[in-house]
Amino acid sequence: MRNFVEMKFSAKLRNVVFARAAAAGFLLEHDLRLNIVNEIKTIISEAVTNCIVHGYLSNEEELVYMSLEIVDDKLIIKVVDTGTGIEDIEKAREPLYSTREFEERSGLGFTIMDIFSDELTVLSTPGEGTTIIAVKNIEYDAV
Ligand code: ATP
Ligand code: MG
Repeated sequence: MRNFVEMKFSAKLRNVVFARAAAAGFLLEHDLRLNIVNEIKTIISEAVTNCIVHGYLSNEEELVYMSLEIVDDKLIIKVVDTGTGIEDIEKAREPLYSTREFEERSGLGFTIMDIFSDELTVLSTPGEGTTIIAVKNIEYDAV
């Protein structure tokens, strides 16, 4: 089975709610277990918030790109910004590492994405932007 959607939206924090709801809507007809849907929404919140806050430094004129693809029993979530990029990806992925601690960010976004994903790939080039690809194995509700 294959199903695909792609969208772009303004880099506004209120659009995190849109991105979560869009994912939930896309997944609705697939009858996934509720906790899996909640984990997917959490991955999306963390990834999209990072694009807005870090990638675009809250410049709301910019655009975040998101695609969702179901291939058999996997969901592939892609979240992309063309913003600042990450200097040291390995360090950024460490628990509690944040470059914005002064804003009370806890540095746990990547850790949460890691925990809820089956595979998490972070591609980033300073000055060019960041792409997050999270693969989630999906379990269908027993019918
Ligand atoms: P929290 O997610 O807990 O609010 P955080 O966003 O700082 O805090 P992570 O989501 O784990 O923590 O990200 C770690 C660091 O990686 C960030 O502080 C930032 O420096 C960098 N980073 C993450 N995503 C991006 C991005 N899209 N563009 C540029 N830098 C990023
Ligand atoms: Mg974060």
